[in-house]
Amino acid sequence: MKETYQEEALMDVQTKKEDSGSICRFCSAPLKHTFVDLGMSPLCESYVPQDKLNSMEPFYPLKVYVCEKCFLVQLDEYVSASDIFTEYAYFSSYSDSWLAHAKKYTDLMQQRFKLNEKSMVVELASNDGYLLQYFVEKNIPVLGVEPAINVAQVAIEKGIPTKTIFFNEFTAPQLKDEGFSANLILGNNVLAQVPDLNSFVKGIKILLKLQGVVTIEFPHLMKLMDENQFDTIYHEHFSYFSFITAEKIFTEQGMTLFDVEELPTHGGSLRIYARHSDDDSKPVGERVLGLRKREREAGFLQLETYENFKNQVEETKRSILEFLIQAKREGKTVAGYGAPGKGNTLLNYCGIRTDFIDFTVDRNPYKQGKYLPGTHIPIYSPDKIGKFKPDYIFILPWNFKDEIINQLQYIRNWGAQFVIPIPKLQIV
Ligand SMILES: [Zn+2]
Repeated sequence: MKETYQEEALMDVQTKKEDSGSICRFCSAPLKHTFVDLGMSPLCESYVPQDKLNSMEPFYPLKVYVCEKCFLVQLDEYVSASDIFTEYAYFSSYSDSWLAHAKKYTDLMQQRFKLNEKSMVVELASNDGYLLQYFVEKNIPVLGVEPAINVAQVAIEKGIPTKTIFFNEFTAPQLKDEGFSANLILGNNVLAQVPDLNSFVKGIKILLKLQGVVTIEFPHLMKLMDENQFDTIYHEHFSYFSFITAEKIFTEQGMTLFDVEELPTHGGSLRIYARHSDDDSKPVGERVLGLRKREREAGFLQLETYENFKNQVEETKRSILEFLIQAKREGKTVAGYGAPGKGNTLLNYCGIRTDFIDFTVDRNPYKQGKYLPGTHIPIYSPDKIGKFKPDYIFILPWNFKDEIINQLQYIRNWGAQFVIPIPKLQIV
């Protein structure tokens, strides 16, 4: 596989000139307040191949702001989206629980919105077709939109019609001209990655039929803060949403959120349901009113709530390092499990390299044989664990911890234990 993603990230990055001149990507107010500062970090998906180990590696600030006007928590676009997403290493299909989640979603949508062979389902950031394949099985027409060329190619080979474009208010009319008009538009974990939020939501409105439905899933900022998930912050995620702020963004473009579900995925996500504001066939439900109220009561309309978050993040760093220092002093070995983006944020922020974690393993062959960005911890295939027999397995994708602990029960044979760093360091 070509290394264009790596090379582009190294050579063709665009950084903003003046940190102080940043404005909110939704409401354009000046950004003056820090949510959390995770220091300098490399792009979390730029895994380093062996022959680049001695090369210069770019690090960018991982400094997150909160807008005092609309409370959108956000990173500056330190690296442009086209640099990040042209060749993306993450293939959703490698996780069993994520596939089960996708399948369940398609059953739910088909029943609730009476989708059939005359409908059209469009997925934004459709990845390798992991989700749309289940609509195809039900004979419901689909279109995937996926900007990463190598990932889109995999979908096309599986028989999922896929367009390789960045979705926005300018590309949506082109799809419409080609005859696409959607009964259902879905986007899972894409909203955070959109540099121009307003243009993206405008595009959704353009492509949606009069009585069509939009569902968007994104990690819930309230969960991120409650459960201390600071490691889900990375350069590839420009924005972090509360329900209240997401609602403002859709309202601004003439859309109404009429339902919301709270899901356990990615440590706690929201699935919002949107429609055209003038489509009164779907009234605003109880769950919308309930969540709006809970967020208001939890202080999500007060700047202070956001500004307090950094204290708990710093304490987490101290407790993780405390554990690792103690383990190493006792002569214990520690292996990682997984090589997710979130792991790279955590390891770089805490300054954990092979001095603490000997290696990590990952089921994704694209990552095996490479090294974690910044920390240069080597990535092997999971069978390395059985050969090396480490004392501790440090689980980096903690959102899959149950699945991983289940798969790795054999480490109990030599008395090893699992370490789960988030929300609070836990040894099991
Ligand atoms: Zn704002």
